[in-house]
Amino acid sequence: MNQQVATTGWGLMGASTIARQYMVDAIRAQSGHTVQAVMSSQQARAEQFAHDLGIPRAYSSLDALLADPDVHAVYISTTNELHRDQVLAAAAAGKHVLCEKPLALSTEDALIMVRACQQAGVVMATNHHLRNAATHRKMRELIRQGAIGQLLFARVFHAVYLPPHLQGWRLDKPQAGGGVILDITVHDIDTLRFTLDSELVEVVGMSQSAAMAKQGLEDGAMAVLRFANGVLAQVHDAFTVKHAGTGVEYHGEAGSLIGRNVMTQQPVGEVILRNAEGEQVIAIDHQSLYARGVAAFCEAMLGRGAPAATALDGVKSLAGALAVLDACKTGSRQSVLPLTIE
Ligand code: NDP
Repeated sequence: MNQQVATTGWGLMGASTIARQYMVDAIRAQSGHTVQAVMSSQQARAEQFAHDLGIPRAYSSLDALLADPDVHAVYISTTNELHRDQVLAAAAAGKHVLCEKPLALSTEDALIMVRACQQAGVVMATNHHLRNAATHRKMRELIRQGAIGQLLFARVFHAVYLPPHLQGWRLDKPQAGGGVILDITVHDIDTLRFTLDSELVEVVGMSQSAAMAKQGLEDGAMAVLRFANGVLAQVHDAFTVKHAGTGVEYHGEAGSLIGRNVMTQQPVGEVILRNAEGEQVIAIDHQSLYARGVAAFCEAMLGRGAPAATALDGVKSLAGALAVLDACKTGSRQSVLPLTIE
């Protein structure tokens, strides 16, 4: 990409809900960045999306989007089975890539994508939004400062209700990477890796298929994860639970951090520190999770720092989620092998 261009143009791959609800605004929040084009598998959907959001161009072909000289970066939010080939095509066209999670359906494919971007000299990042939340960043900071002493346990409460407008491929398309583990557990794993500053090493788990998911997909899961620093983390994820509320807890020898309503797309939630002195509500300076993530990506495109969640972070969260899936399917403990990009 020509670093001298005054405006950085983005192309959206996927006329998706996440692009419509969050990402177009997050891109437009960056000075000098515009959304130039959107691509859908259906030209009419692309045009409708472009019309609704005031995007200049609409395409139904990957080649056409990538041939657009005003597109310097792409945001990929198609269904999960499409991410791999779309990232490879974007890298080959010299476009920077912000890709949705899960990056792919296998760790091997995700590694291929990361290497292709590296070889093409383009930035690739994973759109894990939660590590951009002021709540999670504050908890990470407090843990690093020793506010709760030696960390022992974490618990993630991420059982939610999949809204009716999203009750599609997540519930009935295994080939598209449906199921709650690739959708939600993958976010938990990224958030825990970020906050604990440690790698996932092994997992056990059980999943549930209640009323919603079909075709062998799971719509609920509970898993226990062991991290390299010895911390045990429990995660509870679901598409089927309307009133549980979300949260995360970190428990150390000297205190506990309680994050309420923090496993969410909104810049909301509260953090409480509980220790021998009682309970203290921690001040949080909320900001858009997605705009913060895109801002870091834009800096990385200019050679200034790393994205909030790198491509390798996305490979690692995927590897962890796939280990949880395997643990649930086989009933056995699964190791998560260390991953690096040569
Ligand atoms: P959607 O189901 O809204 O969109 C996925 C694809 O489905 C679109 O690319 C589109 O295909 C097609 N589609 C969407 N709506 C319609 C419709 N009304 N009629 C026909 N086709 C439709 O998925 P999400 O936006 O929820 O998720 C997309 C990706 O983003 C996934 O990888 C998901 O895991 C990720 N995601 C990440 C989040 C985060 O916070 N990081 C949050 C939510 C999702 P086409 O483009 O061909 O028109």
